[in-house]
Amino acid sequence: MADYDVIIAGGGLAGTITAQSISHYSNQNLKILIVDRSPEFLPGRKSLAGWVCGDACSKEAVDYMTNRIKIAWTRPEIEHDVKGVMAYSPDKETAIPFDGAGFMLNRQKLPEIQNERCRKMGIEFVFEINLTGLIYEGQQVVGVQGIDNKTKQPFKKTSRIVIDATGVTSMLRNGLQNSTKVEKRIDRRDLESTGRYIMYFDQGEKDLSEFDPDYCIIHLDQDIAPGGYGWVFPKADNKVNIGLGVEKSLLERRNKRLGKKDNVESLMKEYLHRNKAIKNPRLSEDPEDINNNSGVFQVSVRRQNDCMVSGGYMMVGDSAWMPKPIDAGGIGPALIAGTILGNNVVKALEANDVSEVGLWQYNLDFIKEYGYKTAGLELFRRLVQQMSNEQISYGMKHFLGNMDVESISKGEHPDFSGLGKIGMIIRGAMNKTVADGLRYTSKQNQWLVDHYNNYPKNPSGFDEWNKTLHQRLDEAFAKVEAFGK
Ligand SMILES: Cc1cc2nc3c(=O)[nH]c(=O)nc-3n(C[C@H](O)[C@H](O)[C@H](O)COP(=O)(O)OP(=O)(O)OC[C@H]3O[C@@H](n4cnc5c(N)ncnc54)[C@H](O)[C@@H]3O)c2cc1C
Repeated sequence: MADYDVIIAGGGLAGTITAQSISHYSNQNLKILIVDRSPEFLPGRKSLAGWVCGDACSKEAVDYMTNRIKIAWTRPEIEHDVKGVMAYSPDKETAIPFDGAGFMLNRQKLPEIQNERCRKMGIEFVFEINLTGLIYEGQQVVGVQGIDNKTKQPFKKTSRIVIDATGVTSMLRNGLQNSTKVEKRIDRRDLESTGRYIMYFDQGEKDLSEFDPDYCIIHLDQDIAPGGYGWVFPKADNKVNIGLGVEKSLLERRNKRLGKKDNVESLMKEYLHRNKAIKNPRLSEDPEDINNNSGVFQVSVRRQNDCMVSGGYMMVGDSAWMPKPIDAGGIGPALIAGTILGNNVVKALEANDVSEVGLWQYNLDFIKEYGYKTAGLELFRRLVQQMSNEQISYGMKHFLGNMDVESISKGEHPDFSGLGKIGMIIRGAMNKTVADGLRYTSKQNQWLVDHYNNYPKNPSGFDEWNKTLHQRLDEAFAKVEAFGK
């Protein structure tokens, strides 16, 4: 008999939400263990640098969880309310609002509160365990193994299902032995190197495009944050989460173009320095930020893993590459996926089928709720990354209709219907390339959404479905790259 019904590897955001969801849907009838490498007094920490994150999430995603599994987030884990996100074009002439009302979280405080809630539900924890791999019985995953950092002794526990919530660098996924469907490695170009500070400051020049206590601000600019964006997210009238993300090969290209040798850290310093609304910034030394006020980490910006289950094994959050390709928002999808996954786990255990077939429905449920749109957004991201500042500014100003802004605000791919209007004048060959690119990605997006809506109902149809997906994506990625030349 297994030690636990479910072991959750990684007690970060996705892991603890999933644990609470399993507990909710099973009426606290299952034996659940969360295993994490961090010490108990620094729970859910991503790495030694802390809980590196922009800390923003939409109210809609939090409500999704609360309405279903009855976990409500309040203060102090929510630090500040915002009305939405505002994305500025490089020339600052256009600003697009998206994501609607939301929250700025305290990521250091949140896991403390999550863990307290988990404990009340009877969920067990073990800390300071560095997991190195999975335990197998034939084709089935039956547990986890690693090293107990306190005793330096081997750690082994068995369970009927293992959930991998160990984040983007997941060792468990990288070494997974019982699936050819789950992708193990990520393309370097699908990773953003990102960093941020949490700071107090004195008010400088009043400029709502540089700091707005009511909006999370995003600055698109290929010189400031090549292949990514800079952000200024308010935590109070005089407190900010400020940072940026870049794609490494595009940073190299930008450095060559400008004759510079910048890295993420130097770009972060420069970005902070040039912000005239933020005067005299200093790192927050509040107890709830002290271990988390500056740091650099990675985040993925691709579609979720094409398959997220194998026999006895399921993935959630960053280990499954869930952050949204266009803005790297991973909290929302982790909330949605964790909530869904709890239900799938309980159903599979009740049916006594934890094989690949028995766990398959999770792929379908996540795609139906969220995952149907991510491949199209991945393609769109690749197109925008190829564009110059002039092209992005022109595109945001001239090619986005009201419907498109609405789609973006819902996290969907815009269809740029305005581009089809008779008489639309596009100035210059460079901007015609942008228009062609946008037309192309929106057409591909429609195909991709249809393809995801036809995700196979069981594993037997997967290889054919996945082959068609990859053929289409390979072609589209090559085409989008050519738009940048
Ligand atoms: C700079 C930056 C800014 C971001 N900004 C935003 C934002 O504003 N909004 C948003 O929605 N998303 C943002 N994201 C993404 C968001 O932070 C992640 O999507 C989210 O934290 C994912 O949660 P997770 O639980 O899947 O993974 P993680 O938070 O990485 O948690 C993984 C857990 O697993 C544990 N673990 C890892 N490996 C092992 C191991 N081998 N053994 C045992 N335990 C292990 C870790 O200790 C940790 O507790 C940002 C990311 C970065 C890097």
